[in-house]
Amino acid sequence: NTFAEIDLGDVLNDNIKNRCKYVKPTPIQRHAIPVALAGRDLMACAQTGSGKTAAFCFPIISGVLNTKSPPAYGRPEMVAYPIALILSPTRELCCQIFEEAKKFCFQTGVKVAVAYGGAPIYSQLRSLERGVDILVATPADRMLDMGFEPQIRKIVERLDMPPSGPRQTLLFSATFPTEIQRMASDFLKNYIFLSV
Ligand code: AMP
Repeated sequence: NTFAEIDLGDVLNDNIKNRCKYVKPTPIQRHAIPVALAGRDLMACAQTGSGKTAAFCFPIISGVLNTKSPPAYGRPEMVAYPIALILSPTRELCCQIFEEAKKFCFQTGVKVAVAYGGAPIYSQLRSLERGVDILVATPADRMLDMGFEPQIRKIVERLDMPPSGPRQTLLFSATFPTEIQRMASDFLKNYIFLSV
């Protein structure tokens, strides 16, 4: 099993091989990426260090590249809103995902931005105004375990408002407690369940 066998496109495959030096997909990547590329909703249980970040970033980036088409990928230079939103439970994880995503997006033309609290808002706003394809954000410093489910629900409601099209949702968690099960049944449609 290789990344080349998963249809992620040449630019992304080049970054995976030459910038990340990933030789082959981890088990979660091997199973999750094709499901996400097929447009399905996904609930994936995988431990920290299993390669989760790439497992959701690669199909997201590939999806953005497929949405865009030349020149400048067919999207107007200034875009009103991102195509993908990555929500993470903590600011630290949010920043880690942002750094990895930037590496994956190198020379793809895909623009990534980050938004979190507790930092000056102006530079974050400016990067949003420049146009963003993928936004990595945390709605609060900690999400579910601290009771930030209402914020997540609000965000999801907003995501489903026009002009947004159908929402594809990938939910990754190390564990599958009741709250996550409830979120999965509320936010995911006809989803595939993966546990590695
Ligand atoms: P994560 O679970 O996303 O925090 O990833 C854990 C570590 O594994 C990170 O340092 C990644 O850069 C690395 N990693 C992710 N996917 C692969 C892969 N396919 N081959 C080698 N290392 C990887």
